[in-house]
Amino acid sequence: MQVIPVPCLSDNYAYLVIENGRAAVVDPSQADPVLRAIAEARVKLTEIWLTHHHWDHIGGIEPLIEECPIEHVRGSRYDGDHQRIPRQTDMLSDGDSFDFGGAKVGIVEIPGHTLGAIAFITEGNLFSGDTLFIAGCGRVFEGTMEMMSKSLAKLRSLPADTKVWCGHEYTVNNLRFAQTIEPGNREVEHALREAVAAREAKQFTVPGRLDQELATNPFFRFDDPGVAAGRDPVASFAAIREAKDNF
Ligand SMILES: [Zn+2]
Repeated sequence: MQVIPVPCLSDNYAYLVIENGRAAVVDPSQADPVLRAIAEARVKLTEIWLTHHHWDHIGGIEPLIEECPIEHVRGSRYDGDHQRIPRQTDMLSDGDSFDFGGAKVGIVEIPGHTLGAIAFITEGNLFSGDTLFIAGCGRVFEGTMEMMSKSLAKLRSLPADTKVWCGHEYTVNNLRFAQTIEPGNREVEHALREAVAAREAKQFTVPGRLDQELATNPFFRFDDPGVAAGRDPVASFAAIREAKDNF
């Protein structure tokens, strides 16, 4: 399986996923960069996978359907029921899976950023949308802090070598914030140096790795005794999320 990040807008990532000659795109906010990536990879795009309904993840759906032989537009059942994703054909719920070129793709519901948020997991790759970023997490727009903390707890239980492909390039800012939560965390310091160097070299910071996130991401570490400092897990998570909203 090949995953090709496709930068869109100012800091969004769409991803081209290629398996046995089939291609899907995750969260195409725009069509043009995706069409260029498809042409370069010489593949036929037949599927669109959406982690949630925000405009900066779905804007490319209609023009891609015009240009490509799209067979599936896959999103959550919640977003389908609320008709928030244009041209959606498949409604996915927690624990569902589907076949993509012989690979199994699993679905995990991760509400919080939005109520319809889902992750796609396949062959050690996690497409986490705006729920889990490298060293951060998305804002809690529709759900509750408890919901979001549970969704992140679900994701952190995935295998340690899972590759994390997230919805935005926010890594450097996220790690600067992580330093304010854990000033003594050497892994955060090291990850920040690497992320700054990568961005200066115009490289992506995706994919992350789950074990690295466990060591550095404050939204995975909210119930670590040193981070929670006596607060209950949800209160700790909420305090960190609120601090990030104002960072
Ligand atoms: Zn979003």
